[in-house]
Amino acid sequence: MGTFIRDEDFIQSIADAVQFISYYHPADYLAQLARAYEREESAAARDAIAQILTNSRLCAQGHRPICQDTGMVNVFLRVGMNVRFEGGRSVQALCDEGVRRGYLDADNPLRASMVGDPLFARSNTRDNTPAMVSVELVPGDVLEVDVAAKGAGSENKARLAMLNPGESLVDWVLRTVPELGAGWCPPGMLGIGVGGTAEKAMLLAKQSLMQPIDMHELRERGPRDRLEALRIDLCEKVNALGIGAQGLGGLTTVLDVKIATFGTHAASKPVALIPNCAATRHVHFVLDGSGVAALDPPPLSAWPDVHWAPDAARARRVDLDRLTRAEVAGWKAGETLLLSGRLLTGRDAAHARLCELLRSGAPLPVDLDGRVMYYVGPVTAVRDEAVGPAGPTTATRMDVFTEPLLAATGLLAMVGKAERGPEAIAAIRKHGAAYLVAVGGAAYLVSRAIRSARVLAFEDLGMEAIHEFEVRDMPVTVAVDAGGASIHESGPREWKARIGTVRRESIPIRPQS
Ligand code: SF4
Repeated sequence: MGTFIRDEDFIQSIADAVQFISYYHPADYLAQLARAYEREESAAARDAIAQILTNSRLCAQGHRPICQDTGMVNVFLRVGMNVRFEGGRSVQALCDEGVRRGYLDADNPLRASMVGDPLFARSNTRDNTPAMVSVELVPGDVLEVDVAAKGAGSENKARLAMLNPGESLVDWVLRTVPELGAGWCPPGMLGIGVGGTAEKAMLLAKQSLMQPIDMHELRERGPRDRLEALRIDLCEKVNALGIGAQGLGGLTTVLDVKIATFGTHAASKPVALIPNCAATRHVHFVLDGSGVAALDPPPLSAWPDVHWAPDAARARRVDLDRLTRAEVAGWKAGETLLLSGRLLTGRDAAHARLCELLRSGAPLPVDLDGRVMYYVGPVTAVRDEAVGPAGPTTATRMDVFTEPLLAATGLLAMVGKAERGPEAIAAIRKHGAAYLVAVGGAAYLVSRAIRSARVLAFEDLGMEAIHEFEVRDMPVTVAVDAGGASIHESGPREWKARIGTVRRESIPIRPQS
């Protein structure tokens, strides 16, 4: 007979899953992040983790997205060989229908980030399709499903290398992770795939991220085999790099390292690395033909008693409506600011248009003189929100626009996430500007500092249009000051030196009982 799965049950389960993971962190992520918060000694990193934890609780309570990048949907299916679908539509079409339904939910609309044609038009499909679907046929009578939403900031940091068999995985990982910068919004986890072919290694790395985060428990009980010992070793060595939360320097960069392996050619050693960010979002469910999947939210006790709030005693308050270049010159890399007043927004598409107008000698639609620009593409607002979750996007993509904009407009500062490249830092120093970072993965918390929003230009760009936000006590850290000092360079350097060489006693491998 076998198990019969109705299309509607499957589609609704996917739709429910994408909604569920948009506002609930997995409980294991919360538990490990709470431990990282307790032991963190870097004030900047601890503050960032406090924002991520507070944001997480607010999202769970408000059923609003953890991050403004609500991600690209990955669906992993383990289809029992006795399972039958209705058969009228492909599995890809069913998954896409579920994604469409979930992302267009009127109560909690999620940001559609997918473009259909990746090479030329790159126009938004407006419903976040297509999903990335992987299917495995296995013995059995049920359909096992993992649904994950992966932000571009962390997905863009995926790396693959075809090592020689004698080369060290550990050395490769320790060379690779510092090169990723902070755009993947640590603290998160690393998924590592080793073996198979190039594409198999990448799939293994991504699938490994669906496993529960259990590094603390693993350390407590000790490794049972060489793979577990390797995970502990890698986790400690990556954390000893000192990168820390948001790349600000600190004790915890990764909460866990997962490794999945597969047989490979005697002459090959493919290794793949995919980081998962502060917005770690995935859920597992099983369909047995009895209806739509039931998803259990984490209990309220899963969130630690951490409640971030603006602290004027530790931060400098900044009035954006009266900001001067002399005041910007007084900010120091690593300092915390609370921004209030009018803040402009703009990201990739708006920057491209502004620079095109400058090149052609045409006037800009917005006067940037004396202003601060936030790199953001918020989620659509619902109910009484001024704006939906509105965390920072990766600033590195704006590096090429920085010199022309600073040179021509009198823009004073920019807000984004992750490090700036040498070209942008040189422009910031030359023009006495500054670059500030907000916490990636704290988007709903940030949006609560935004009291009103209106579109000023390029309305056709949707979430990429230039808006003006009225903000109150929006928390940011000075990442590059007017002298060109960068917290993303000095922070990890300082914390790497403080952590010192890892001299862990080798942990004995305990045989399985
Ligand atoms: S936490 Fe950072 S990397 Fe993750 S989805 Fe959000 S912005 Fe992207």
